[in-house]
Amino acid sequence: MRRIASHLALLPSGILSKPLITLRDGEVVAIEQWDRLDAMAGVEFYAGILVPGMVNAHCHLELSYLEGQIERRGGFAAFAAGVARTRNLFTAEDRLAAARRASERMWSEGVEAVGDVANDVSAFAVKEQSPIRYRTFAEVFGLRTASIEAMEPMLKYGETSLSPHSTYSLQDEIFKRVCCKGDAPLSIHFMESPGERELYDGRGALHEWYKTQGWECDFLHYGSPAERIVASVPADRSLILVHNCCVTQRDIDVIMGHFTAPVYWAVCLASNDYISGLMPDVELLRRNGLNICIGTDSLASNSSLEMMAELKRLSDYPLEEVLTWATANGADALGYGAELGRIEIGKRCGLAVIDALDYEKVRLTELSTARRIV
Ligand SMILES: [Zn+2]
Repeated sequence: MRRIASHLALLPSGILSKPLITLRDGEVVAIEQWDRLDAMAGVEFYAGILVPGMVNAHCHLELSYLEGQIERRGGFAAFAAGVARTRNLFTAEDRLAAARRASERMWSEGVEAVGDVANDVSAFAVKEQSPIRYRTFAEVFGLRTASIEAMEPMLKYGETSLSPHSTYSLQDEIFKRVCCKGDAPLSIHFMESPGERELYDGRGALHEWYKTQGWECDFLHYGSPAERIVASVPADRSLILVHNCCVTQRDIDVIMGHFTAPVYWAVCLASNDYISGLMPDVELLRRNGLNICIGTDSLASNSSLEMMAELKRLSDYPLEEVLTWATANGADALGYGAELGRIEIGKRCGLAVIDALDYEKVRLTELSTARRIV
């Protein structure tokens, strides 16, 4: 039995001050408030705010070996070229070691679950041994990809399902087929760059690149990325839209007018900053009452997989809200909401503490860090 106290705790009902949380074998058995700590023997006290284990809603663990390899602010073409150029410089052992280091660090920083995109089986050895719960999105990618055969080895692993990479990188038939297969959540890169929408208007960077390669798209009649999604994904399928840098009110209306299942809008601010500097309009997502969740993307486009670094970029928003994006919303997005993401009696949600808060304004400071305590 452990009794854990702090200044604050994030509960589903809001931020509780002077929390005292009792756990038995990792399961929350009581949530109380302390009065005088000096009167309580055997209580562990941690300065800061207690949060349930966090959820990184968008990651590519297998790309961890690319840390520091891709030029910052090089844009999307430079990013793709950089990945291709450096890919073969690393051995399988290098890649595995990098993925293991990254996963262990996430765990120690209080991450409980990860929505992880995979293009091959290389990181599964790490994921299977990790205490972190991984949901893997086996990514179907490529305008000339017509079959999911190459994905079969990944689908042998637990909690792994197919997902299309984006609305610009797969032809019509296979995109539809992947979106209709199974009932696990989908995770689709969405509106990361202006070229994604412009492609449908026959202009922009993606259009130009495809033209030089001689590639044609058979899906442009949908008119826009959002319209393609609602024409292809069943309304009752839960979906994570990742990046959302160029999302407009009309896109939101099109998407939300279609889905009966929850839609999650993942933001990966540090990655956007790294690649292009284009940022999602978080206020627009918020104003629409959307389910926001938070991802780090990969170490190819981020200097760390630290959730705190993402949270600090969102510190203008109320702390309770941002922490909910990083915990409950992420857990819901991955289909883990019944078990993870909320400090509630009967749950084994993990527990982290975030320290160095500005208690007066109830917000994070530049010095805040997160670490796992349960
Ligand atoms: Zn990604």
